[in-house]
Amino acid sequence: MSACIYCREPLPSSVPPEHVIPQSFGTFHGNLTLHCVCESCNRFFGGTLEWALQRDSIEGALRLQYGLADGTLGGFKSLEFKVADEGSWEGVCVKIKADKRKKTVEAVPIPQVGARRNATDEWEWYTPKEITPEFARKYPKGSSSEIQVVGSSLKEQKGLIRILKKNGVDFHPKRQMKPPFGPDGKVGTNLVALFAEQIQRCIAKIGFNYLAKVRGAEFVLHSDFDDIRAYVRYGTKPRVKAVRPLKASFLAEERHGQVVTRGHILRVDWSAEKQSIVAQIALFNTMKYTVVLCNRYRGIWTPDLAQGHHFDLDNRRIEPLQRTGLAIPVLLVPPRISPITKSGTRRVVLPSNLDIQGLVF
Ligand SMILES: [Zn+2]
Repeated sequence: MSACIYCREPLPSSVPPEHVIPQSFGTFHGNLTLHCVCESCNRFFGGTLEWALQRDSIEGALRLQYGLADGTLGGFKSLEFKVADEGSWEGVCVKIKADKRKKTVEAVPIPQVGARRNATDEWEWYTPKEITPEFARKYPKGSSSEIQVVGSSLKEQKGLIRILKKNGVDFHPKRQMKPPFGPDGKVGTNLVALFAEQIQRCIAKIGFNYLAKVRGAEFVLHSDFDDIRAYVRYGTKPRVKAVRPLKASFLAEERHGQVVTRGHILRVDWSAEKQSIVAQIALFNTMKYTVVLCNRYRGIWTPDLAQGHHFDLDNRRIEPLQRTGLAIPVLLVPPRISPITKSGTRRVVLPSNLDIQGLVF
């Protein structure tokens, strides 16, 4: 009897299909699916790891931008969108709201108060909870301090003015802020996302799923893969870091900086020194990762392991990558860029501008 490739429990005769790439990241002709993942693991992945990837990752935000889903993302938690354009709006936190049918993506400001001690300082932004008597002492009336209130409706602004008053700041609006639109009617936004453990595990799962798809369930049930299995399923720390961000493109065509696709790219290969089996994953060909699936492979070395697929979001086809497109070797070295900076966040600029609407001052 065959076993689940994650928990190793015996598989019943029928299990729900496990999609190599979660369906929320697009459905394709001839979707790549597995039938070697038990229902319990499948359900666990959907409700936790895939949910985290959808809600709190850069890839999750790109889903909205590329019209794969409706909904609103962002806030003051693990995923923050901030106005990037210089001026009095710089740093304002916004949510991103997507409407698949209307094909629109809008930025909606979150209620917040901006303050600075004098006109040459940068604005600092405060959530309603951060408006305290301490705030009032920092920006006293009669000093050179300036305060501005941002909300997506008059009601939200009035609410903020009440909170300010309660904490000792008597705010009387003098003028309206100019909207931050550029000549194209859009505003640039930065995306700051925490590369949380669950998101890393979901990336690792996509890599392991892909190896199971191209090499078969029996191959990945080998004990050499127990580390990555336990990491994905139970969060057990592997002996070597599993998920490593990369800057370089996986495609030979993109060596000189051009971008040839916004589709997903999956690959498996040997590491450069041929001891490790690694996957390379780039959803929307944007954030790129190497996943160490097995640090020291003890089985028989096969030269034909390297495989790759391109998931084209324009025509919804899955095409194998040509070997000439696989010319860049996989290097098993520590990542050159750290996924987490000192503050625990990673700053990324979204590839295009977003509309901003409904601003009242
Ligand atoms: Zn299982």
